[in-house]
Amino acid sequence: MEKEIKTRVLQPTAEALREAAELLKRGELVAFPTETVYGLGADALNADAVRSIFAAKNRPADNPLIVHIWDKSQLDALCEPTETALKLMDAFWPGPLTVLCRRKPTVPDVVTAGLDTVGMRMPSHPVAREMLRVSGVPVAAPSANLSTRPSPTTAAHVLEDMDGRIPLILDGGACDFGVESTVLDASGPVPVILRPGAVTREMVAELVGACEVADSVMRPLKEGETAPSPGMKHKHYAPKGRLTIYRGRAEAVAKAICEAYDREENAVILPLDDHAALYGDRRTLPMGRTLLDAAHHLFASLREADHLGYTRLLAEAVSEEEVGLAVMNRMARAAAFDVEDVDN
Ligand code: AMP
Ligand code: MG
Repeated sequence: MEKEIKTRVLQPTAEALREAAELLKRGELVAFPTETVYGLGADALNADAVRSIFAAKNRPADNPLIVHIWDKSQLDALCEPTETALKLMDAFWPGPLTVLCRRKPTVPDVVTAGLDTVGMRMPSHPVAREMLRVSGVPVAAPSANLSTRPSPTTAAHVLEDMDGRIPLILDGGACDFGVESTVLDASGPVPVILRPGAVTREMVAELVGACEVADSVMRPLKEGETAPSPGMKHKHYAPKGRLTIYRGRAEAVAKAICEAYDREENAVILPLDDHAALYGDRRTLPMGRTLLDAAHHLFASLREADHLGYTRLLAEAVSEEEVGLAVMNRMARAAAFDVEDVDN
């Protein structure tokens, strides 16, 4: 990026939303809150504007963006959803579900990274919805972080990464879910989750009878393997300190974490609240009580660990059921798959 620009952070008043809409229509970038994480948006039909998202984030060009709409009437101009896709949209929109659909030629290549599908999402956050409605354009947006960093769940996180790179951040407070949307391939008879999120495998299966999870969700890609969800192949969500995840029975996990902690100068522990007592007076960044709490806290805790200068992060694994799968998918990548099974 050559020229520094002044980045403003505005409360989402009617005037600020009009300004956001004007910027989008002029081909500029706006960061905005959603119920998952903050997005960095551009007019999806303006290829130059979309290219500037990649520049602002240092994002690899082979990592496609999600197109956000506020009304289903916008679908027809952009893509060809299958019957199953429409059923999923009816059930889970507006909400944290991205459905891959065959794209129409109107969608620029840069949005889909050249793929013939486009990820479509209708967010439920009132600020996102109002911005989309007032601008009248479909908005291509990835998460509003610098590539490789944890996704932003507050306006302050966005400012930390994007100051001087974009003109406007709409401040909608802390995001509700805290992990990105579920990415679902509904092109075949059984939908496949390519990236887990708050719309869970269990919820999709209940609606349409069955739902698979791509097997690359919980393991690193093999050499030369194509990523079904390209974002998953890149280094992702990484704090500056080194993160290790410990998986197993709570007492065995706590024992292994305490031993690792005591060997380090500058470590911090990420436990679930119910286990906090197992760590005595060691430093912790608690993840809350439930899987939804853990999703809500995860990225903020990784950034907080960086701010506090911790060089070693020791986290408890959570259950991979329901929204826990999304938490573990992000945590495993943030840890570069450094996961220790303590029961074996
Ligand atoms: P982000 O919101 O920053 O995580 O970026 C959007 C993510 O959605 C990408 O990293 C991809 O993993 C996924 N995605 C978007 N469009 C597609 C697509 N057409 N096919 C597969 N995955 C996609
Ligand atoms: Mg992202």
